[in-house]
Order: sequence, then C-alpha cells, then structure tokens
Amino acid sequence: MNRDADPGAVAVGIDLGTTYSVVAQVDANGQPQIIPNSENQRTTPSVVYIEGGQIVVGSVAKEQTQLGGANTIQFIKPFIGRRRKRFIVGGQEWTPEELSAMILRKFVADAENNIGGHPITHAVITVPAFFTEQQRKSTEDAGRIAGLNVMSIINEPTAAALAYGFDALGIDKTVLVYDLGGGTFDVTLMRISGHTITMLATDGDVQLGGKDWDERIIDYAAESFIKNHGVDPRQDPDTLQMLYGQAEQAKLRLSKLPSTRLTVTSQGLADTIDLTREQFEDMTDDLLSQTETTLRLTVQQAGMDFKHVDEILLVGGSTRMVAVRRMLQRLMGREPRHLLNPDECVAQGAAIHAVMTQMRLRENGAAVPRPLVREEHLERFRQMEERLINSHTLGIIALDAQGKQVVVPIIPRGAHIPRKEIKTFRTSADNQQQIRIMVMEGENTNPEACAQLGMCLVKGLPGDLPKATPIEVCFECTQDGQLHIQARLPMIHQTVHSQIARTMGMTEEEILSSRQRIESLTIS
Ligand code: ADP
Ligand code: MG
Repeated sequence: MNRDADPGAVAVGIDLGTTYSVVAQVDANGQPQIIPNSENQRTTPSVVYIEGGQIVVGSVAKEQTQLGGANTIQFIKPFIGRRRKRFIVGGQEWTPEELSAMILRKFVADAENNIGGHPITHAVITVPAFFTEQQRKSTEDAGRIAGLNVMSIINEPTAAALAYGFDALGIDKTVLVYDLGGGTFDVTLMRISGHTITMLATDGDVQLGGKDWDERIIDYAAESFIKNHGVDPRQDPDTLQMLYGQAEQAKLRLSKLPSTRLTVTSQGLADTIDLTREQFEDMTDDLLSQTETTLRLTVQQAGMDFKHVDEILLVGGSTRMVAVRRMLQRLMGREPRHLLNPDECVAQGAAIHAVMTQMRLRENGAAVPRPLVREEHLERFRQMEERLINSHTLGIIALDAQGKQVVVPIIPRGAHIPRKEIKTFRTSADNQQQIRIMVMEGENTNPEACAQLGMCLVKGLPGDLPKATPIEVCFECTQDGQLHIQARLPMIHQTVHSQIARTMGMTEEEILSSRQRIESLTIS
C-alpha cells in the first residue's frame, strides 16, 4: 500500500530556465501538457521584481526591467550554487536559491489554480547536462525552499530526448541535442534505441546564450550613439536596462526580417540605429563558432562523426536564429528538422520523467502522488529507460611522488551511470589515526582548479598502521546521480563505512530559514 502524502496532490515537471521557465504535467491520456501561468502564457520569464513584501514574477517584472529595472533581477541561474553569491534586490540581500524559489513559487501557485486547485507537492526540475554536483544540489535546494519535494533533478537534453523519444518509441537513432537558451549552451549526443535513451557525450557553456548576442547589439548601438553624441548610453544603468530590452527585440525581429532599426534615447538625446541581419551575424560570428567548437568536440568525444548523427534536436529560443540553423545545416549536410517545440520540450520531458519517477518511488512504497495517467497508458512509462553519463570527472586528492597534492580521477567524465569504481591509495605517514578523503569534481589534476564536493573522514584506525598501508576507495554513482563513497583497509580486514559530509549546498537549517522567509512574501 502506498501512502499518499496528500490526497489529490500532483507532481509536475519544471524547466527552470535562465530566461524562461515552463511547467508541464502528463495528463490522463499519457500526454505531456504545458500548464499556462495566470497571465495565460505557456512560458514565464525568469525575472523577479521585489518591493517590500511584494514579489512579482514573470512578464510584468520583465517589462519593468525594460523601464529602468529598479527592484528587478534576471539571469539568476548561472549563479546558482555559488555559495557566497548575494543579489541585492528591493533593498534586501537574496541568495540565487531564494530568488529561484520565488520563480518556482509563482508558477507552482499559478499551475495549481490552473489545474483545479490540486496541490503541487512534488516536482522534477531540469538542469543543463554540464551542471556540477553543487549546482544540482542548489537547484534542489531552491525547489525545497519553494516548498516542493524534488523527486529528481534531470538533465535538460535528456528531457528533450525523452520528449522526442516518447513520441517515437521503437526508433533507433543517434540524436544530437543543441540547446541554446538565454544564458546557457548545452550539447548532448544520445542514442535512442527502442525504449532506451543512452547519453553518449555531453558538453556546454554555462555562460553562453542569447544574452551574449543581445550584448553585441547593445555595444554596436552604444558605439553609434557615442559617435553621434559623444556619450556612452551604457554608463547609465537605467538606459542600459532599456537597451537590453531593445536589443533583444531587434534580435527577435532579425530572425524573421533581413533588417531592422532600434532607437536609443539617453539623457534627452536620441539616436536611430539601422541593423541588418548580415551585420548582426558578423558581430556575433565568434559566439556561434564557440558553439560549433563545442559541438565538434562532443561528437568527437563519443568517437563519432556528424555523418553518424541521424537527427538534431533544436532546443532553446536562440535556435530560432537563422545563423544557428545555417551552421547546423552546413555541419549535417542537410537542414535540421523542427521536430520539437524548442521552448516546451524540456518541460514536457521533465513531466514524463516525473511520471517515471513517481512509479518507481511508489513501487518502493514512498509517499508520492499517484500519476494522473490512466492505467492503460502507464505501460509506456514503465518501459522507458534512461542511461546517463557522468558530466564531470570525480576523484580524490592524493599526494604524488613529490608529495604534491593532486586530484586522482576515480570516475571519469563520460562514464556511464550507474558505475562503481575502486582505486587503491596508500597512507602517507606511520600511525595514521584517521584518513581524510577530499572528494573533488573537475577535469584538472590541480585541486585549485576543481570543485570540492565534500569530505569523507575515515576514523578509528588501529593506530599502529605503517606508512603506505593500502586503502581502497570505492566510488559508486547511482542511477539517480548520487555518489556513495566507501573506504576499506584490506590489510586489517576492516571496512570503514564513511559518510560523505557535503560541504556544498545549503544546510537543512539554511533551507528551512530561507523557506520561512519566502513563505512570508506575497508572490504574484
Ligand atoms: P533558457 O532556457 O535559457 O531560459 P530559452 O530557451 O527560453 O532560454 O531561450 C531564451 C532565449 O531565446 C532568449 O535569449 C531569447 O532572446 C531567445 N529567443 C527567443 N526567440 C527568439 C527568436 N525568434 N530569435 C532569436 N532569439 C530568440
Ligand atoms: Mg532552457
């Protein structure tokens, strides 16, 4: 018997994007459906306006940024997981997790209204595939601050592939997911075979997205303004915010029109700037090339060539740019097909994943809501299977022959998950009482260049161990992306179960206190 946390409660899939967020749910017929917000939009700008205890999230907040931007904040996602990052909005300090939680609260509340008042208690939230452990944990923290039980964090390209593969069950194809959003770029190669989706390689850039294209237009407009008026309009923060809005609008027009025009006003001066698509493409060519390089490397990583790629899935609003499609056509030798809705497929995939997770958790007796899907449609969800890979190398700090601290990889990047690896190390001194295992994530042997995931202390050693006593360190990455660590001293036949103390992310107390802080606010 399953306990239901709350009768009538439901779970959703959430695409928490840098610029736009989307929420979806699988209906009784097994179809993923987008749940619109209270403004009846299917996507909600990830922008927050704060004044006193009043929070406004979405398009009104976004419009406000274009009117000067006081009390508003956007592009929060790339900062998630930065432990010390604070934003000052509406005269108060906020963590990226708290601001993300406000966005989540807004559309969860809207979605609840939209689906007849059923409480949304559980969610699957998506993240870019190359997000680190820390960023994943922080995304989960944001969900918990918003009062959600985060059942799972899943990769955006996997979600997109799920949305695609779910519709085309039984196919056998290698697909490349090219996701260029507002602030992040993500590329992932996958194999969809029957009911199984296998990730082959992944890479990306957490600081590359549509915003960078907008900034090139801003710089171009500013230079023209300086030439004509001798003043830099970017110096004035209000004008700069307006420029962001104008530049983005001009960019959107250039996806359809061969040329457009934008008007810049600053300090009572005005300038009209003409911009052709060709000029826009010239000034952003290096950004596009960056995505092409990442694309090539990812395909190479999987030991493949573009000719092995059967399909490109375009994800993210920025894939509407003409130059992106032209570049992909050149690489693939044919036009990319529009197989998915680039704005919605990630949330749809998250909703599908939510059903899969609900079924798995319920089978294990967990108190999660029952999926809305009718029994006759559930079989498809039962059959779907994802095989993920590890997006960053995991290892520990050890001393090399010269006594210098180095990161020794244990589970390499690109390794299939679940995966268990054991490596033997040796103690560095006589009579060591305890061994400290520093768990690291990153592609460098220099500890400074890697992120520390946590620490694991092996205590209670006999005390008379000679130097160079072997210690076996076992890393186990589970299907849901969790890392378990165990250390064993074979010489003394002792297995020391050690706990990984997560130094990253927020503590339980911090989450609770942020949650109380957010709960006291009115969010609309
Ligand atoms: P994210 O997932 O990062 O929130 P989205 O996938 O929603 O981002 O994409 C948002 C980005 O797509 C923004 O930078 C926006 O300007 C850009 N975008 C949306 N539509 C178009 C278009 N028609 N042409 C060019 N860029 C677009
Ligand atoms: Mg996105």
